[in-house]
Amino acid sequence: MVLVFCEQREGKLKKVAFEALCVGYAIAEKRGGELAAVIVGAGIKDLAAEVVKFGVNKIITVDDPSLQFYTPDGYAGALERLCREHKPHTVVLPSTVMGKDLGATLAARLETAIIPDCTALEFDESGNPIMTRPVYAGKAITRAKAPSANPLIITMRPRAYSAQPENDKGAEVVAGDVAPAELRTKVAEIVKAVIKTVELTEADIIISGGRGMKGPENYPILEELASVVNAAVGASRAAVDAGWRDHQFQVGQTGKVVAPALYIACGISGAIQHLVGMINSKTIVAINKDPEANIFKVADYGIVGDLFQIVPMLTAEFKKQKAQA
Ligand SMILES: Cc1cc2nc3c(=O)[nH]c(=O)nc-3n(C[C@H](O)[C@H](O)[C@H](O)COP(=O)(O)OP(=O)(O)OC[C@H]3O[C@@H](n4cnc5c(N)ncnc54)[C@H](O)[C@@H]3O)c2cc1C
Repeated sequence: MVLVFCEQREGKLKKVAFEALCVGYAIAEKRGGELAAVIVGAGIKDLAAEVVKFGVNKIITVDDPSLQFYTPDGYAGALERLCREHKPHTVVLPSTVMGKDLGATLAARLETAIIPDCTALEFDESGNPIMTRPVYAGKAITRAKAPSANPLIITMRPRAYSAQPENDKGAEVVAGDVAPAELRTKVAEIVKAVIKTVELTEADIIISGGRGMKGPENYPILEELASVVNAAVGASRAAVDAGWRDHQFQVGQTGKVVAPALYIACGISGAIQHLVGMINSKTIVAINKDPEANIFKVADYGIVGDLFQIVPMLTAEFKKQKAQA
């Protein structure tokens, strides 16, 4: 069996859940065994209907008020019990903040191997997954396999694998054993930051601002462009360290790794630690007044100039295009 953890927040499945299911499907096809989707949370039973069309044979819901918020104890406990019961040969999770924490905790509890933060999947001649993963801030790429791991745990980077529904196999929906252990962590309250635009890892378009933005008061020009093209607004670490943007918006080695269809870097020099977080974007546009800036080496389109002139021009042009469409 391949067991796929389908991440949900506030009763909504994340895109990465469907991507992870497609990775799981490919592995189950190659190595054999059923494909099981696991959804953990409180009041999440209805979400089963959203994953049926991804070629799953079984959907296991672990539904309990104690699992309303993510806690390592609660979620890893639920997955550990499922692994001990169903004995999957592979467990797939998304490489999100939750998935990374959960995957590592689960691997430790099951005393097994984890290949984290993968970007591609292949198979050896025996059908064992060979996982590609960037290391040393993306300076090198490794290909890893762990055929003797039982189960093998994999976390897959968001957007590294596309989510194509396979087929509806009429999966049975079963309730997983809740048996909540005494949770050592209790989430008292979640205070949400007000995000006016799309969430970074889910966005098709990201517009990021760096030190060239000069200050927090200038980010509304990026937000305005973002609202016209339905994009998320990201930042370099320089902007985050300066206190201009919250860390949740940071792209890079110590921030989020993103791979949108379009990444527009504004006033960002292109340090390796930033590039590692966005290099897999399908199209990269850089706006920088320094023609020698490193970002131009990875950009598909480069605009040498002052972002304070160029960004408003882009916004006006996109508004015009939208009005005409
Ligand atoms: C261990 C470690 C981890 C790190 N992790 C990250 C990470 O996760 N993410 C990250 O981003 N960085 C990270 N860094 C920091 C990284 O090395 C760089 O310092 C940082 O990315 C620089 O940010 P920046 O490009 O915004 O600033 P700068 O390098 O200062 O570049 C600013 C750019 O703005 C341009 N500019 C200025 N004014 C204008 C204007 N009006 N119009 C157009 N262009 C203009 C300049 O020409 C310049 O190229 C990390 C560093 C270390 C050591």
